[in-house]
Amino acid sequence: MTQITEGVYFINGLDEFIPDSHSYVVGKLGSQDLSLIDPGLMGKGSYKIQSIQDMGIELKAIKRIIMTHTHLDHIGCLHEIKEQIPWAKLWVHEIEAGPLEEGDERTVYGMDMFRSMCQMQYNLKPGVFTFAVDKRLGGKENLELGDMTWEVIHIPGHSPGSIGLYHRSEKILIPGDVVYADYAIGRFDLHLARGPDLKNSLLRLGELEVKVLLPGHNRIVQDLPPGYIADTARQWAPYLS
Ligand SMILES: [Zn+2]
Ligand SMILES: [Zn+2]
Repeated sequence: MTQITEGVYFINGLDEFIPDSHSYVVGKLGSQDLSLIDPGLMGKGSYKIQSIQDMGIELKAIKRIIMTHTHLDHIGCLHEIKEQIPWAKLWVHEIEAGPLEEGDERTVYGMDMFRSMCQMQYNLKPGVFTFAVDKRLGGKENLELGDMTWEVIHIPGHSPGSIGLYHRSEKILIPGDVVYADYAIGRFDLHLARGPDLKNSLLRLGELEVKVLLPGHNRIVQDLPPGYIADTARQWAPYLS
């Protein structure tokens, strides 16, 4: 785990034949009110927990798990993580909270072919990704987390309940899988994904001042050029209508 700035910590995803999402810990360490963003893929729970402990963070300081969205590569090790920190609350956007509580795994797996493949490969029983959600996010709140303010922005398109977390004064954006480094964007062919929604979400993010981009995969960028997300939106717009 590496420190990006005071109150923002990065744990690199360990990809295998399926990608493992990056995880982030946000909150000033002294606050004892930390949030884990996106646990990651099946089997990566102990690595993520160990990375947190290696920074000298006590697990009891982690009060909640916030999902940027509920795809398998982000939520796959949630059971493993919850075993280690059973007190942590689960926060998910309201659109993906209902299916998660009902055991509707279509968003988790994204497509039927992928579901059968993963259930076989990882020996996953149907319905294993059923979780009680403690807080449903609407996508407009300002969250006071660990002595920091994070704005929640609903950015559907890659998945219906994708959210971004934005720290306005430090210009930090955690966009999940909506936008990556190198002018890449999230795929929009999965369950309830929609190109036009993704275009609007990119345009929306393009209005923010972002200097530090902390996406769900691939490299992170700490000196993003001005206008980067707006340029990305412009380049992709013809393919997203
Ligand atoms: Zn992902
Ligand atoms: Zn995703």
